Amino acid sequence: MRDEAELRTVLSRLDGRGYPAYREIQGSWRIRDWVLSVDHVQGDPFAPPSRVRVRLEGRAVGLPREVLHPASRRVGVACLLARTFAAGAAEVSRRRGTGRGGEIQMEAPGQEVLAQTAVLVGEDGAVEARFTVGLPAEGRRVLGRDAVRIFLDELPALVDRTLRGRAYDLDELRRHAHTNEDAEALRGALEGLGLVAFVADGAVLPRKSGVSQEPLEGPKVVPFVSPRTLRVEVELPHAGRITGMGIPRGVTLVVGGGYHGKSTLLRALERGVYNHRPGDGREQVVADAGAVKIRAEDGRSVQGVDLSPFIRGLPGGESTRFFCTPNASGSTSQAANLVEALEAGARLLLVDEDTAATNLMIRDRRMQALVPKECEPITPLVDRIRALYEDLGVSSVVVLGGSGDYLDVADTVIAMEAYRPRDLTVKAREVARSFPTGRWVEAAEPLRRPSPRIPLPQGPRPGEGRRRWVRVQIRGRRTLVLGDEELDLSSVEQIVSPSQARAIGQALVLVVRELLDGRTPLPVLLDRVEEAVAQGGLDVLDVVPRGDLAAFRRFELAAALNRLRSLRIRQA
Ligand code: ADP
Ligand code: MG
Repeated sequence: MRDEAELRTVLSRLDGRGYPAYREIQGSWRIRDWVLSVDHVQGDPFAPPSRVRVRLEGRAVGLPREVLHPASRRVGVACLLARTFAAGAAEVSRRRGTGRGGEIQMEAPGQEVLAQTAVLVGEDGAVEARFTVGLPAEGRRVLGRDAVRIFLDELPALVDRTLRGRAYDLDELRRHAHTNEDAEALRGALEGLGLVAFVADGAVLPRKSGVSQEPLEGPKVVPFVSPRTLRVEVELPHAGRITGMGIPRGVTLVVGGGYHGKSTLLRALERGVYNHRPGDGREQVVADAGAVKIRAEDGRSVQGVDLSPFIRGLPGGESTRFFCTPNASGSTSQAANLVEALEAGARLLLVDEDTAATNLMIRDRRMQALVPKECEPITPLVDRIRALYEDLGVSSVVVLGGSGDYLDVADTVIAMEAYRPRDLTVKAREVARSFPTGRWVEAAEPLRRPSPRIPLPQGPRPGEGRRRWVRVQIRGRRTLVLGDEELDLSSVEQIVSPSQARAIGQALVLVVRELLDGRTPLPVLLDRVEEAVAQGGLDVLDVVPRGDLAAFRRFELAAALNRLRSLRIRQA
């Protein structure tokens, strides 16, 4: 392997030459006690920066063994290292010469702690950091001396400050490792406790703003306090005994006045399928790993979904057993989201009135009298939500401040009052008894699990040509560009980072290019991707090592696949 002195010589020699001469530095270099790999050299100073990796052996990193096992500790520590490296890179990164020369960039993890590829920590404590460097140039002439400074001064200093165990307090490392292990344990404890979610006392749920996932700070914050009747104790490996509100299996209703914190609670549950970084406020807020947010999303494409449990007898006689539309309405989109979530294996549905289609949620007595059932294709969720639980074992948490008709079907009723939950289950039963709605149940047929759909290979084409792998572009926060198709995932709220969206895009390419055979049902395709990632890590999603991918769930992959406008389906 070429060494540091050679890199210095090569870069000095390249000084003043045309930009493509930079190709010479592609490959691996031994620098001090680590290895620098330049995987891809950009073609010009304005192109996306060059892709680079730094690899240190366990001994060179020197992380204490105790933060490396079990895997959940490693994931927490890897996120800490990635965050620190990304911040450090942003500090030393400064434009030099033309275009993006001089930039050093790593994709930093957000509030969620996910397995990711920006910094990988191996079982043996080896560390690999993946990032990009804009190779410096003046016009199209190589700035060799600046490149020497970047690779041989700034980068080694950055490595020392961010990728070595000694750069961190032992307490800090432990906090990241233990917080993540605890979250994992807490989620794992839910089932045994008969719960679908848990919100710890003292948790901070509100966020800084509508565009920031950081915790709200200051005197206005009301930390979470569980109502006595829903209080549950859990023993965690590190935090010890904690208490909080357990949300039991079944149908849970969240009621309360406007602006009292209902949606904030639901959003915390949505994100509770992921772990959170220390200091987030939601480190001990967890939901069943099979929790899926269900919302209306008019305009989405729907392909071959059986909506008949919720919608049947459309005007014009169109069948809803195999429903297709390029432009779903509020209610059909929400029904499709729900049926697709069931197909993918959801165990908990999360619904917020703020983003739900009213007519799919409820049809009250007066409307039943005014518009006869024959003229209303929709069976509202209120008439299906019990069967979802009793027949299919799927629980739900529904935020609904505006209709009391759900009181009849709820097992648990939580009221938010000035950001404090109260258990109103008993009172809700009394109210339901004293004020009968007089409405009749509209569900005609028993609820069945949707029969699996089979995606056909002649549908999507993510990019042309024979190349097995195409790179998925990501536009904005949650729009993927695959070939000539733009895939809008902005309403898939449990996609939480650009890295995650990108990984989903790459997984979609894997599905379309390698797995679609016209015989495999959609849930099995999801299994295959999960198995591949579980075995080979996120690196199975591309042929080159990338630093911009993060772990995702089968539900979000299914959501992406189901929203492809080119998807074609056959029903089994
Ligand atoms: P609702 O859905 O009941 O109308 P939201 O959940 O949207 O209410 O909350 C309304 C506002 O209150 C939001 O700005 C939110 O950030 C803030 N908020 C929610 N929970 C808390 C809390 N525990 N402490 C302080 N502010 C909160
Ligand atoms: Mg709300």
